[in-house]
Amino acid sequence: MERPGRVGGDAEPRGLILVVEDEAAIADILRLYLSRDGFRVAVETTGPAALEAARRLRPAAIVLDVGLPGMDGTEVCRRLRADGDWTPILFCTARDDEIDRILGLEMGGDDYITKPFSPREVVARVRVALRHSQPAVAADMLTMGEVALDRSSRRVTVSGVPVDLTATEFDLLEYLMAHPSRVFSREQLLSEVWGYAAMVGTRTVDVHVAQVRAKLAEASPIRTVRGVGYSAEGP
Ligand code: CA
Repeated sequence: MERPGRVGGDAEPRGLILVVEDEAAIADILRLYLSRDGFRVAVETTGPAALEAARRLRPAAIVLDVGLPGMDGTEVCRRLRADGDWTPILFCTARDDEIDRILGLEMGGDDYITKPFSPREVVARVRVALRHSQPAVAADMLTMGEVALDRSSRRVTVSGVPVDLTATEFDLLEYLMAHPSRVFSREQLLSEVWGYAAMVGTRTVDVHVAQVRAKLAEASPIRTVRGVGYSAEGP
């Protein structure tokens, strides 16, 4: 395949971008500009196909039109996030009421661009989204203040000193640190971390949070959000 007008000698592809856009002319120009910049590009034209492709292809980022046949772009985002998929999303929107809906998602970290846009700006914003996502999404290492959590070896340290956590304590801390500043209810944590919400009470979450806090002491990033649940935040 030809890459028109590509400059620079970097042959390494930058990763796969999923473009979801039902207007063929816009999809074509985004594909052209993104591939010229070294990205691989997959295009889908409906909401359900976007959701399926995101799960199957695991793209580095998604450029997501809001007004789509089958399922709205904001609903695609909501479903991915509900699955624990935090792939960065750049929403493309034509209308003010769509911007309200995007902002109403409060999913954090996502960006939007209004139509008509310059394809160059889309490429620039995709690059920014990837830069921001790398520490939290791609890395095996999650850090928050003095706490470092290594997902591959399942080790946690505070200022370099190892801390022994049980498997469940580790999973709970990992889940919260993987979604910085996002507040989860006890029920959400039960279903995401324990995976069997019906079997144990929400008090279990409080007990494990208390244990993690006791072990990490002042370095603990876990914050109680009164009446809601817990989140993990850096200093
Ligand atoms: Ca559209």
